[in-house]
Order: sequence, then C-alpha cells, then structure tokens
Amino acid sequence: MTTVDLPLLPLGRGKDLDAERGVECPGDLPPASDPDLVARARAAKEALGAKVFILGHHYQRDEVIQFADVSGDSFKLARDAAARPEAEFIVFCGVHFMAESADILTSPSQKVILPDLAAGCSMADMARLAQVEDAWAGLEDAGVADSVVPVTYMNSSADIKAFTGLHGGAVCTSSNAEVALEWAFSQKPDAKILFLPDEHLGRNTAVLKMGFTLDDCIVWNPRLPLGGNTIEAIQAARMILWKGHCSVHGRFSPDVIDELRSKHADLQVIVHPECQHEVVLKADLVGSTEFIIQTIEAAPPGSTWAIGTELNLVKRLATNHPDKNIVFLDRNVCYCSTMNRIDLPHLVWALESLAAGNVVNVIEVDPDTEHWAKIALDRMLALPGKSHKD
Ligand code: SF4
Repeated sequence: MTTVDLPLLPLGRGKDLDAERGVECPGDLPPASDPDLVARARAAKEALGAKVFILGHHYQRDEVIQFADVSGDSFKLARDAAARPEAEFIVFCGVHFMAESADILTSPSQKVILPDLAAGCSMADMARLAQVEDAWAGLEDAGVADSVVPVTYMNSSADIKAFTGLHGGAVCTSSNAEVALEWAFSQKPDAKILFLPDEHLGRNTAVLKMGFTLDDCIVWNPRLPLGGNTIEAIQAARMILWKGHCSVHGRFSPDVIDELRSKHADLQVIVHPECQHEVVLKADLVGSTEFIIQTIEAAPPGSTWAIGTELNLVKRLATNHPDKNIVFLDRNVCYCSTMNRIDLPHLVWALESLAAGNVVNVIEVDPDTEHWAKIALDRMLALPGKSHKD
C-alpha cells in the first residue's frame, strides 16, 4: 500500500485543481455590503438572457436561490442543465462535484461555471482516487477484488465515478441506493459492494432496507493497511463501507431527538440517510431532500417536525410553511460551509464576468474521466423503479 498524502488545505487557499478543495477566487469580488448587489445580479442575468441558465441546489442561501432558474438536488439539476442545450453558460450554485456532473451530462459546447472554486464537498473529498486505487489493491491482496462491485454515491468526484464505471459499478443517489445495491449484488455470484464515499448511506441502506446485519458491513479506513480490517473480515463482509461522511448530516445525534421528543409530544422526526445509523433508527421518516420537501408540503397544518438536513433548506421550509411547526435537529446553527461559499458577491462576480465576455471558473472534466463516469451514471439511469433524486 502506498501512502497517500491528504493535505488539509484551508478552503480558498493553495492550489489543488484535481481535488474538491478548489482555489481562491481570481477576480475582484464586490463587497458583501454593496447595496446594489441584487440589482447588479438582475442586470447581468438579463444581459446574458437565454445564454445563461442558473441552477440552485436546495442547500443554497436564499440570496442566491432567488436568482436560480431551477432548484433541486444535484442529479435533477444536472439533468435540467442537459435539457437546456441553448444555454451556453450553466452557472451551478452548488458544489464542485455537482458542477462536474453537470459538465458530464451537458454538451461539449456548454460551459459549467462554479461561482466560487472553493465550494467543494468535504464528503466527496474523503475519497480521493489514489486512496480508492490503493483500497482496490488491498482487496486484490485479500483475494476478493473479483467479486467486488463498486457503487458510488452521486456526492463523489468525477474521477471516483469514473473508477466505479471502469470497475463495473454504478452511481447511486439517496433515493435509489437500494435499487442500485440490488443491481450491484446481482452482477456477480457472492458479490461484495465497495460503497463510496458515505459510510452512513451505505450502512443505512444495507441494514434498514435490505436486511443485512451490521456484522455484514465493514468500514474501510483509507489511512490504515487493508482499511483497518483483517483478511478474514474482508472475505466475510458483504458491504465494504468507505470511511466518509457528510460534515453536516453526520452532526445530528440521537440524544437531541430524545430531548425534542420530551418537549413536543406530537413531534415527528424526518432525516436524510446521510445521518448516522443511530439517528436514523430513532427517526420516524428517512429520505432524500426531495422526500423531505414533499413530506413537509403534504403534512397537515399544526403538525410538528424536527428536520435533520442542511439548515438553509430547513429554514426555507419553515418560512414556506408557517402553518407547521418546524425545528432544526441540532442544538447549534450548522450550515454546509462549502455550499455557503456561493454567496451573492460570487454570483454577481460570475454573472458580470460572463456578461463582459470573460468566462470564469469553468469546471471541465477530462474526456477519459468523463467517458467512464458517464458509464457509471448511465448504469444508474438504466436501473428499474425508483426515481433518481438525491
Ligand atoms: S451537505 Fe454534506 S454532502 Fe452536501 S455538499 Fe455539504 S458536506 Fe457535501
């Protein structure tokens, strides 16, 4: 096993274009205090007209979402972009892996712009290609690689999606993880799944939806030889869970659920499957961001909800549904810090640059990576049944 360096670059500094960390904004940002930011964004968007299509992920700030032509989860947004071939510029208000997916699914003539290149994703960053290649070598050493099918969550970098495609696997979202795992288990006799990069989504899906036990799952820590496992444990496992997690959803804890239930007798708890297993076990409902939104929209007036997902979305749901009691499932205010990198000054800077003919912050996946990542995405699209939302 080779040693993989994993320098922790402060967001927005240093240069690591191949990683999720990004680089600092190269332009002069308007100050956040500029009272004309909204008018400037509006004017630049109008000047660009049909040439620009702005995508806003559900976890984006309201000040940014107001300029989005569509909002949604990452996969829906990438598909929305692909359905707008007349848009020369796709401005993706989200994070780096989402912009990569949009680039993969849009035509070569379309340019995908990420307003702040430092908007990465800490989860995607936890599985780097060299680490995953090392892990695969470890699985070969353990004599099991031939029976392993990789499945990667949408929330992974393009090169991890490409690795997955190259090794016969597929991408999944939080909506279709169960279907994707069923497909993967059917690909080989005695198949094992290498699930990347979110251990919680993998564990919650395998154990709570597919009937596997916690003993069927092992965690692969890329910092340890053989992921920190014995050869016997690797040979016995059915699910090999990459040691990665979402820094937002991983925060929620079961004791907060207990505390809130003691205060609100009628409380219903709804969480995202990126939450820890112990949290999901205590929740009433678990599902994707789209599922959470649809559930709250359909909930009766007066119902009380604790929601375990990103705070911008929870606040928006509370604002849009004043007839329901909505609380955040954490004692502390916690936004996704990288999602929040995209703010109005960065959006104004990107739009005004494009309007002035200066194409900035283009996210472009290299052709070979794109080819194999597309194969993994296409395998997901060919899955039967459930929708493909994250
Ligand atoms: S919410 Fe979690 S998974 Fe989503 S971008 Fe932020 S760190 Fe990544």
